[in-house]
Amino acid sequence: MVDESGNEFNENQEVEQAYQHLIDTYLGTNHRKKVELINKAFNFARQAHKGVRRHSGEPYIMHPIAVAQIACEEIGLGSTSICSALLHDVVEDTDYTVEDIRNIFGDKIALIVDGLTKISGGIFGVHASAQAENFKKLLLTMSEDIRVILIKIADRLHNMRTLGSMIPSKQYKIAGETLYIYAPLAHRLGLNKIKTELEDLSFRYEHPEEYKEIQNKLEHTREERDNVFDEFTTPIRKRLDKLGFNYEIKERVKSPYSIWNKMQTKHVTFEEIYDILAVRIIFTPKDPSTELTDCFNIYVQLSQIYKAHPERLRDWLNHPKANGYQALHVTLMSHKGEWIEVQIRSNRMHEIAEQGFAAHWKYKEKTGLEDDGERELEKWMRTIKEILDDPQPNALDFLETIKLNLYAQEIFVFTPKGELKTMPQNSTVLDFAFSIHTFLGSHCIGAKVNHKLVPISHRLQSGDQIEILTSNSQHVQQNWIDYVATAKAKGKILAILRREQREQQKAGEEVLTHFFEKHDLVFDLNDVDKLVEYHQLKSREELLQCIGKKEIEIGENDANIIRRKSGNSKTWLRFLPFRKKKKDIEIDSAEKTVEKIDLKKTIQLNEETLKSTYTIAECCHPIPGDDVLGFVDENNHIIIHKRQCAVASRLKASFGPRILAAKWDTHKQLFFPVSLNIKGTDRIGLLNEVTEIVSRKFDVNIRKLAIEVREGIFEGEIQLYVHDVDDVQTIIKNLKNVKNLQSVSRMN
Ligand code: MN
Repeated sequence: MVDESGNEFNENQEVEQAYQHLIDTYLGTNHRKKVELINKAFNFARQAHKGVRRHSGEPYIMHPIAVAQIACEEIGLGSTSICSALLHDVVEDTDYTVEDIRNIFGDKIALIVDGLTKISGGIFGVHASAQAENFKKLLLTMSEDIRVILIKIADRLHNMRTLGSMIPSKQYKIAGETLYIYAPLAHRLGLNKIKTELEDLSFRYEHPEEYKEIQNKLEHTREERDNVFDEFTTPIRKRLDKLGFNYEIKERVKSPYSIWNKMQTKHVTFEEIYDILAVRIIFTPKDPSTELTDCFNIYVQLSQIYKAHPERLRDWLNHPKANGYQALHVTLMSHKGEWIEVQIRSNRMHEIAEQGFAAHWKYKEKTGLEDDGERELEKWMRTIKEILDDPQPNALDFLETIKLNLYAQEIFVFTPKGELKTMPQNSTVLDFAFSIHTFLGSHCIGAKVNHKLVPISHRLQSGDQIEILTSNSQHVQQNWIDYVATAKAKGKILAILRREQREQQKAGEEVLTHFFEKHDLVFDLNDVDKLVEYHQLKSREELLQCIGKKEIEIGENDANIIRRKSGNSKTWLRFLPFRKKKKDIEIDSAEKTVEKIDLKKTIQLNEETLKSTYTIAECCHPIPGDDVLGFVDENNHIIIHKRQCAVASRLKASFGPRILAAKWDTHKQLFFPVSLNIKGTDRIGLLNEVTEIVSRKFDVNIRKLAIEVREGIFEGEIQLYVHDVDDVQTIIKNLKNVKNLQSVSRMN
């Protein structure tokens, strides 16, 4: 702790300055000026956190001030939120209770602080279910007061900005959780700028080298981009000036995370990404009522200078995205022959795009405009509530279901009567049916889309008109899960299936009870287990269900199995496949279990430990040189995943404390499998040359080779064994020199 030297004086000054900055920002907004209340909250929090420090060493109160600053400046929230942000860690970290907060600050602030406390309690919980429970609470409190989640996001943003002072394993956990839950949530709430920053910060901590590389490349190409921008926008400015528009033109540069994401998913290099630069025209309409027509007028002007891409006009004006986003997007061909996207927005639309729906309120009060964004948000919250009302037994499934709901892009479709409906992209006929009514969904046999008959799995396109066809004899099937993309339909289908299963099990139970009575047997769970094994099933529930569905008829044989002495049955138990498997796992775990794991230590992956202690994950196949982490599973095995592995991010979000930092220390002795994707135009001898390079020149073992040639295009996958990422890069570099081979990339 700091003594009474000048140090403390400096610190106090620092705190005062940060707080004054917050008050100045607040006074600059349109909110009612309730400085007194904010002062009270600040003094209360300051005194409550007195003497406590953050990991970075600074006084704890600096954190709540920073969170309040974000809530006010970057999200646009008012005094209630600022006070709640200042107080957000008081109940969690000090002896004060929610009751104390209520007595001093009233119900509203107490409710929000309580919501924030519930969420943070056990966010580092050990079990997946605890984590999902937390998340559920978060969404529940969110539907009570949306400001809870907004402040939570501000809190997370500040923690991400100061993540550098944490140990690496904590960094991966927090970064992973941010990418898994908080960035999608910020996106869904329309907090675009914050979402982008959260993604970039996560990326920076998970893949520091790639982050730096992309940053460097962006820096190097900046001048070139600026030139393109100036050249492209000069004629636009001339025209808009002439017409007297009040506007601004800005560069929009793709974020490092989006660039990296595109490189990963589309298998392209930095240089091959053509849409790093986009152009934004932000104008202030002379009259709020001409806002939309102004957008189209600007578009007309642009299309007279440059040719517009016929298929890339995106009208988010008349139908805003579900997160409130509104703009007109066009893609134009520059005079140099490059496609450049232009986003046309009013200043109001721009503010909503950056700050999310908090900005909606501001404009609603000011202009009294009908507010589409908020209505869409209400609809979304209702869906979330429906999902919450329908309990799902598996916590991770629940997280996935919610996530489905966060990132979906929308399409617009029509009912037979011409009513417009917004659906997530990739929605099917079945999704649409469930979105209208559970009955329509559960009895759906197909649809007429634009008057043509299609099956329930048919994917919808924007502009489709859909008439759902039903039949009373239709009922929900297990495989319907594969046909739907929306959380709502998925939830409904699972609920119906579970209900049916319960009914079947009940029926099965009756049959079984009757069977025991008929054969003069005493009902005993051990005997039921014998039948489970005899019919090669996995559980009692499955047995009851099969009997209930009449897939299994129990009879004399079953009675004999039960009457047999248990000693007999054990001899054939061994031959059941699932029994054997379990035993294998046990042996494996005995070998690779680590007695005591120090979560703060970075584990070294070398020839020795990879053989004896750690297991390489099957899902993402990391190889030396990849950014990795260790995950301690329930059996105390340490499994090595790639940091961007989808399975690992789920684990990070739900089993955070079991994450370990890991480093490679191999010396080209072990071999690891890796897959390359190759693409090009076909020519004689191409394949030969490829295998020649891989197997002769590099003496690398090809494990599998699959090539497909279609209409002169050659595409394939090579699986090979390598030592590390360096090997892969050398091979890719050499393969890229092969004539007609256009792209070579490592697959995930
Ligand atoms: Mn906090």
